[in-house]
Amino acid sequence: MLHLTSYSGGTDYDVVVVGGGPAGLTVAINHAGLFGHKVLNVENEAPGGAAGTAVNVIDNHFGFPDGIAAGELAQRGLRQALNMEVEWLPACRAESLSTLKELDAGDGQPPLRRLRVAACHDDGRSVELSAAAVVLAGGVAACRQGGKHKRDYEGRGVYDMALPADA
Ligand SMILES: Cc1cc2nc3c(=O)[nH]c(=O)nc-3n(C[C@H](O)[C@H](O)[C@H](O)COP(=O)(O)OP(=O)(O)OC[C@H]3O[C@@H](n4cnc5c(N)ncnc54)[C@H](O)[C@@H]3O)c2cc1C
Repeated sequence: MLHLTSYSGGTDYDVVVVGGGPAGLTVAINHAGLFGHKVLNVENEAPGGAAGTAVNVIDNHFGFPDGIAAGELAQRGLRQALNMEVEWLPACRAESLSTLKELDAGDGQPPLRRLRVAACHDDGRSVELSAAAVVLAGGVAACRQGGKHKRDYEGRGVYDMALPADA
C-alpha cells in the first residue's frame, strides 16, 4: 500500500473525490487542472484502483499505442494529479456523506449545498471534510459466485467472470 500523501490537513474543499482509481483521478485532474478547484482525493488503498493492481499490459488506453503496464498507468495518473496540486489522501476510507448546510442562492434558484464527508484513516483517526461537490468514484466490488462455500473455491481453479467470452 502506498502511503505517499500530499494532504495538507485541511477540511474545506471545492471538490472531494472519493476513490483514486482511473475515474477518480481523472475527475480530480480535470477539476484541479482545468477549473482551478481545490480538490482532495480520498483513497482507501493505493492509486489506480483496479487498474493499479492488474498485472496485464493495458493496450486499449488512448495515447498508449504500445500499451502500458497497469501499475505504471496508475503511478502516472497520481503524478499528474499531484502536478495539478490535487491533495492526495491515501489509506483513508470515506464513510458517510451528508448535507452540512444549505445556502440561499436567491432569485428562486435551488439552494447551494455544502456537503460533509466523514472519513477514517487506517490508524483509526477520523477526519471531517466539507465540499461544494463530492464525486463518488469508488468503483465496484466483485460479486463472487459460489454461495455459502465461496471461499473454499478461491485459488483452486474456479473463476468468476462476467465477460461474454468467459460465459
Ligand atoms: C485484472 C484486471 C485487468 C484489467 N484490464 C483492463 C484493461 O486492459 N483495459 C481496461 O480498459 N480496463 C481493464 N480493467 C478494468 C479497469 O481496471 C476498471 O474499469 C477501472 O479500474 C475502473 O475504474 P474506477 O476508477 O471506476 O474504479 P476502481 O478502479 O475500482 O477504483 C475505485 C477506487 O475507489 C477506492 N474506494 C472505494 N471505496 C472507497 C471509500 N469509501 N473511500 C475511499 N476510497 C474508496 C478503491 O480503493 C479503489 O481504489 C481491468 C481490471 C482488472 C481487475
